[in-house]
Amino acid sequence: MSIMEDVLLNAKSAVDTVGRKAGNVLDKSKLRLASLDIRTELSKKYRMLGRVCYEAQTTGKNYDKNIEKLVTAITELNNELAKINDMLAKSEKKTKCTVCGTYNNQGAVFCSKCGTKIEKAPDDEDYSQDELLDFAEEIMDEDV
Ligand SMILES: [Zn+2]
Repeated sequence: MSIMEDVLLNAKSAVDTVGRKAGNVLDKSKLRLASLDIRTELSKKYRMLGRVCYEAQTTGKNYDKNIEKLVTAITELNNELAKINDMLAKSEKKTKCTVCGTYNNQGAVFCSKCGTKIEKAPDDEDYSQDELLDFAEEIMDEDV
C-alpha cells in the first residue's frame, strides 16, 4: 500500500468516526429534548390535577371525569418518559440494575446504589442509532 493510500484511508476512517460521534450526540440530544418536554408536560398535568382536586374539595362539585383523564394522561407520559430514559441509558451504554433500577456506567461490576452484581445485558437488546433516531422523531412529532 502506498503512503498516499494509507493517508487517505486514515482520513476516511477519521471522518467516519467523527460522523458517528456527531450522529450519536444528535440522537441523544433529541432524546434529552423529548425527555425534557415530557417532564414539563408532566408537571403541568400534576398541577392541573392538584387544582381539580382542590376545586372538587372546596366546591363539592364532581370532577371525577377530569381527574380520570388527567391520571390517564400522567400515566401515559410517565410510561413514555421511562422509555426515553431507558433509551438514553442504552445509548450511553449504561446498565440498569435488575434490583433497584439504577442506571450504572458502562463496565460497572456492582450497582452504585444497592451493590447488586451487574449482569451484562445481552447485545441484541441494544437499540441501533437508527432505531433511537426513529423513536426520538416519533415522540417529537406526537402532540401530547
Ligand atoms: Zn441496584
